[in-house]
Amino acid sequence: MMQYPSSSSHRPEATAIGPSGRWWRAAALSVLLAGAPLAGAVDVVTERGYAGTTVDQQLVEAVLVRVNRLLSDTAIRLVPSWLSNGSSTVQGFPVYLVQSGLKGAETPAAVPFGCRCVFVNPFVLADWVKNNSKGSGRLDLDRGNFLTFVLLHEAGHLAKLTSAAVFENGEMSQLNVDPSKAKAAEEEADDFAAELLKRRARQAQVNDTSLDANWVVNELTKLSWNMQAFRSLDEFGAFAVGKPSVFFDNGYTHPNLAWRILRVNNLIQRTKETQYLLDAFDDARRRGTDPQPLYQRK
Ligand SMILES: [Zn+2]
Repeated sequence: MMQYPSSSSHRPEATAIGPSGRWWRAAALSVLLAGAPLAGAVDVVTERGYAGTTVDQQLVEAVLVRVNRLLSDTAIRLVPSWLSNGSSTVQGFPVYLVQSGLKGAETPAAVPFGCRCVFVNPFVLADWVKNNSKGSGRLDLDRGNFLTFVLLHEAGHLAKLTSAAVFENGEMSQLNVDPSKAKAAEEEADDFAAELLKRRARQAQVNDTSLDANWVVNELTKLSWNMQAFRSLDEFGAFAVGKPSVFFDNGYTHPNLAWRILRVNNLIQRTKETQYLLDAFDDARRRGTDPQPLYQRK
């Protein structure tokens, strides 16, 4: 049975670079693909008000092996910045582990404006997975499998030359972002991830790559289940009225994540059930734009 990083509900532990470091250096050196030259970690991260962190390095290294395997027939490769700093021969898009002292609008990962690179915030990732795993009827989510999907989405931004987020002073800024362009870029990046997962999950030859893809597809199904449970158990009544806090966007740059997950699931699976869940969500949103009282006195 394949072992994946566990879905610990605790905050991540700081980890040292493991024996896989040597493998990574060799792999990173052998990747000769179009990518921006690596910028200094200190500049890229600190100029946006973030600090680097060593938390979850091993988890992210393991995830990047799977992500690059899934991306192997594209021009995108992601390399851990902490294993390639100072090397001008490494080609690929660096992934930085970052943390912020602020509690602002946050996202587990993003391609920051002005850098062909990816920021991963392991603390936001851990909190996000923990929050979306708790509650009655919920399934335990796996940080590694969820992060694999998130990084395929970020690879979509790199492939389509769009950036997801403007970071200033240690938080995500909504300023200077055209909402409709940002939403189109998010959907395009989701399309990239969904198309790749669908192709890899159904490839004729069963191997590590097809298994990886199936694990991630399974994770997205779990996530849609958990989000449905949240809407119908924790927010009973929200579905009938299309309660805005449940069904509407919580930020300009990121279309409602629950809607995006349902959409990605449907793009991959194309079943009556996945289409129904997406349509039901859209219907609830429509009800939310035209609120009607649940009960009317005669
Ligand atoms: Zn995005």
